Amino acid sequence: MRWTNIGITTTKEAPVEAELISHQLLLRAAYIKKMSQGIFVYGHLALRVIRNLENIIRQELDKANAVEISMPMVQSADLWKSTGRWDKMGDTMLRFKNRTQQEFCLGPTHEEVVTEYIKPFIKSYKNLPLNFYQIQTKYRDEIRPRFGLMRGREFIMKDGYSFDTSAESAQKSYDSMYKVYQNIFNRLGVSYRIVQADTGDIGGNQSHEFHLLAESGEDILLVSDTSDFAANSEICKTLSFLEKQNFAKSEDKDKESKKDLTKLDQKLLSTPNIKSIKDLSKFLNLKKDKLVKTLFFNIKTTQVEKKEVKQNIEKIVVLVRGDHDINTYKLKNFFKALEVSLLTEEEVIALTGANPGSCGPINLKEKIKIYADFSIEKMINYTVGANKNDYHIQNVNNSDFICEGFFDFRLAVAGDLSPDGKGRLVEYKGIEAGHIFYLGTTYSKKLKAEFLDSNGKTCPVEMGCYGLGVSRLVQAIVEQSHDENGIIWPMILAPYKVHICLLDPKDEEISKLCDDIYKDLISKGVSVLLDDRKERPGFKFKDADLLGMPLRLTFGARSLKEGGVELVERKTQEKQLIKLNEVVETILKKVKQ
Ligand code: ATP
Ligand code: MG
Repeated sequence: MRWTNIGITTTKEAPVEAELISHQLLLRAAYIKKMSQGIFVYGHLALRVIRNLENIIRQELDKANAVEISMPMVQSADLWKSTGRWDKMGDTMLRFKNRTQQEFCLGPTHEEVVTEYIKPFIKSYKNLPLNFYQIQTKYRDEIRPRFGLMRGREFIMKDGYSFDTSAESAQKSYDSMYKVYQNIFNRLGVSYRIVQADTGDIGGNQSHEFHLLAESGEDILLVSDTSDFAANSEICKTLSFLEKQNFAKSEDKDKESKKDLTKLDQKLLSTPNIKSIKDLSKFLNLKKDKLVKTLFFNIKTTQVEKKEVKQNIEKIVVLVRGDHDINTYKLKNFFKALEVSLLTEEEVIALTGANPGSCGPINLKEKIKIYADFSIEKMINYTVGANKNDYHIQNVNNSDFICEGFFDFRLAVAGDLSPDGKGRLVEYKGIEAGHIFYLGTTYSKKLKAEFLDSNGKTCPVEMGCYGLGVSRLVQAIVEQSHDENGIIWPMILAPYKVHICLLDPKDEEISKLCDDIYKDLISKGVSVLLDDRKERPGFKFKDADLLGMPLRLTFGARSLKEGGVELVERKTQEKQLIKLNEVVETILKKVKQ
């Protein structure tokens, strides 16, 4: 391919909104162009990377006997209503009506469609197992599309679905897809980690995420320093006092048990203008772990009454130690809630009579249930807000108020005991590239995807689903593989393996030599980008580094006088002069490596 045919122009600077280096590089190198929030054109070069990635994905899935299909992007509301997800998906779903006022959405995922599709094929256990996948554009109306391809509204996903006769066989399908993902990530040569993950709105009871490790990653991964345990911090368990004691054999016995448990008299303290735990800790000269945060949440749930779906919102209090944070995913799962959200300042004042910074569990104006995190299970003589502006109460104990109990509500952090009792947690940042779920019969029951087993009994089919963010992965790889000059594509993904800089396009003799080798390489199956622009050499070299092809060949008068062309490896910047008659052979060897 000749540069002048692609017609792209690179830029020195990226727009200020591009925060991530990978986003900046893809924009500057004209791989992508934003058309509206979270919606991009994939230029010729990006499309070639995507195709290469898709091929790797296809090869690995095909080896595992998964079968490719293509399902519609436009999906009818009726189908989504039959699983209850038309309401559950909320505003992430882009909905619209056609000319006859029928409701549709643009597919954010395809569990419903694929289940409906396979129904007629699975009449008997003899028709199973089955495993289908597609690689397709998805639409999700993300609140904050950002970081370029990382969180788009329109993006490419590979989504796969397995169907089995039993939980045992479904587990095998799950494990086989887990292995496929490992193979894909290994072939890409990226640095990644697999963690236990939240099943979210998709449902089901087992799931793993595949993360590319990167400082800019939005997810926090917690990994044991001693065992195989690894989880997304969204779901990482924390241990109760009792569990810690049970695990304490090899670890230090929990310090709490050795503490002096003498209760002291409660004291009302004036704390003028203190609004945060940080300020309170400074003001009282007490560590944050002697303070307790009081947080107020709205818990939104749905109930089905007489076939009608009713929404219910309950206000609750959650207590957590001052140095910890609440994990809202845990709250959501615990209460089986549709949504959990913090009360607004006005709502808190109405409920307690005090600003959020002066609230506590004692003397609440209204009757409201109080739940506490494990972290305060064994705390004594701690400080909380007094429900009176600018006042706190010292020496509070758990017996001073009525509490529903102690639960796992906080975010786990590095340094915590690993939930399997082996070692302590270490933190990594990750970009979620893949997510696999064991779904069970959640969808098949609702959609009546059933088969007859060997005894003639009707059973719902066991399902798994397997997502892989193709466009996100492309950018995540750039996030891992670049230097100060530009992108460094791994050979297996590069849009073109060789980038030729023709320095004197006006010199007919050099152009002819260059053209011969260009054509020879292509005829031998090597993809080549030929920079045939009338630009200065320095400019062309800069662009070659920015675009990131693994090998660069330079055709210029100077090196040809010395009897060859210069070959530069993008990754190592290693240079060598290659004799004209050895160029093709050398490149073929490098490409195969
Ligand atoms: P996230 O937590 O990042 O929103 P998710 O849990 O919603 O992801 P899944 O529904 O599991 O994602 O989708 C499968 C894969 O699709 C993800 O692992 C991710 O790689 C990709 N993906 C999801 N949302 C987006 C998006 N808005 N833009 C690009 N890729 C996405
Ligand atoms: Mg999402």
